[in-house]
Amino acid sequence: MEDRTYVADAEPGDEVTIAGWVHETRDLGGIAFLILRDRSGKIQVKFEKDEMDDHIVETGLGVHRESVLSITGRVEEEERAPTGVEVIPDGIEVISEADTELPLDPSGKVDAELSTRLDNRTLDLRKPGVKAIFEIRSEVQRAVRETFRGLDCTEINTPKIVATGTEGGTELFPITYFGREAFMNQSPQLFKQLMAGSGLERVFEVGPIFRAEEHNTPRHLNEATSIDFEATFIDQHEAMDVAEAIVVSAYDAVDQNCQTALEALGLVDEFTVPEGDFPRLTYEECIERVNATGELDEPLVWGDDLSTEAERALGDDVGGHYFVTDWPSEIKPFYIQDYDDDPELSKGFDLNHPRMELVSGGQREHRHEPLIEGFEQQGLPPADFEYYTKMFKYGMPPHAGWGMGAERLVTTMLDLDNVREATLFPRDRQRLSP
Ligand code: ATP
Ligand code: MG
Repeated sequence: MEDRTYVADAEPGDEVTIAGWVHETRDLGGIAFLILRDRSGKIQVKFEKDEMDDHIVETGLGVHRESVLSITGRVEEEERAPTGVEVIPDGIEVISEADTELPLDPSGKVDAELSTRLDNRTLDLRKPGVKAIFEIRSEVQRAVRETFRGLDCTEINTPKIVATGTEGGTELFPITYFGREAFMNQSPQLFKQLMAGSGLERVFEVGPIFRAEEHNTPRHLNEATSIDFEATFIDQHEAMDVAEAIVVSAYDAVDQNCQTALEALGLVDEFTVPEGDFPRLTYEECIERVNATGELDEPLVWGDDLSTEAERALGDDVGGHYFVTDWPSEIKPFYIQDYDDDPELSKGFDLNHPRMELVSGGQREHRHEPLIEGFEQQGLPPADFEYYTKMFKYGMPPHAGWGMGAERLVTTMLDLDNVREATLFPRDRQRLSP
């Protein structure tokens, strides 16, 4: 529609054609109102029954809520109207009619269960507060790309159908690939390392990862979006600097460019951009700190992974984003480098929001021999990964990087209850459609 005006742009005195959804109608007898909604907002349309063409009045008041209309008319100032203006129609067309019965109420007056909302995402995203999450997610992805560009990185796309997993077998989704077994990739880890070692050197990717996690939690999906970074001639500390820059730039962009969306979520006053300089705590310090909170039934011992409870206790104690560095080698994957002078310790790190883990990364093992040893220690057959390991024989510089869950970034940023809130069509144990 070439001549369509968004309702938020309709100014008194304009002759406009507006198009959108019937939010509600109110019939007061001689006069009736229809609220029309589009992506920019809502506007009141006034029907004065005695003065108007019967066809216009009957069409406007005869359609069900959520039907799509196109209305032509004059915009007038009206201080009693919700936005201070209203449209006096002189033409109306029903473009698409909606059933009387709707599976959920897009006006948000009646709450719906998350599962009902996910089954009917089209209607769910007509609610400003839900639409706002995805406008913000879009801005986050834009900002992330821009920040990577500013850091001189090249955006890459790596295969999602692979012959072998990255992190071992248990979390892999097998598929049939022309009669052969293949898998959905868990992470671009190995490919992005191969590309760091190529002529590109500094790369990033925003793409899907697939994890056959059995557990159903508010922070796990079976298909998630991973923001990945990998670069040569940097160490884990510089990789942490980049992770921090990406997080801060995402918050900053949302603060600068998404005030309307934040308003729709009721977050204008609460939203704060983290200052950066996230504390970098060693794994050992974290264990001590968690145990000192007395929040855990069983104290952690060196070598334990940080459980959900431990992450929560530590998050409350630290009170903001923080890195966990120098993890025990045995709980980090083979591609993370260990300290030469203390092989029990690795150069892996996590970045956590007080509520959950956001990032895992580290300095990578770029030397062929120790890499092969790492595979063997982890019980992975190096032969299956030859496409990867052999490139470490042809000039592989030191490199480091990380992966960040996009859904978790948005979920923690907007204090949502569940990563599914930040996912259009989540894939989980129960949900494969829509
Ligand atoms: P967790 O310990 O929370 O299960 P992980 O350590 O298995 O996560 P990584 O392999 O380190 O996850 O992946 C890097 C990042 O990708 C995570 O920090 C997280 O933000 C995101 N991520 C990983 N798996 C999932 C998932 N199943 N659902 C949503 N995000 C995920
Ligand atoms: Mg991790």
